[in-house]
Amino acid sequence: MEECIFCKIVKGEIPSEKIFEDEKSFAFLDINPVNQGHTLVIPKEHFENIHDLPEEIVSHLMKVSKKISSGLKKFGAKGVNISINNGKDAGQVVFHFHIHVIPRFGNDA
Ligand code: AMP
Ligand code: ZN
Repeated sequence: MEECIFCKIVKGEIPSEKIFEDEKSFAFLDINPVNQGHTLVIPKEHFENIHDLPEEIVSHLMKVSKKISSGLKKFGAKGVNISINNGKDAGQVVFHFHIHVIPRFGNDA
């Protein structure tokens, strides 16, 4: 998966604004944020979408997304959207599985 942009982020070959990292996951700020603090949570190992992802990685990444959501609330978010695009027809553009964690601030359209 040499060409995968998110694999390169995990390896540090492309810079990112890291939010969190552990053995299996990596979280960083979206380069084109919907809102300030828009974070992407990814597995360190390359999987294209949720259909390819082992169950334990799904649950681990959801736990990490929850942790980040709590952090965003501490920093003033009033709500948080958590979303996943699976497949081109669902709007997936980067084909390395990722969870969008998007803070909401009220009246932010
Ligand atoms: P999706 O439509 O779910 O595939 O979303 C891909 C997301 O990756 C978009 O929100 C992009 O802004 C984001 N993205 C693409 N390249 C980078 C990058 N180098 N660093 C951070 N976020 C990125
Ligand atoms: Zn990848």
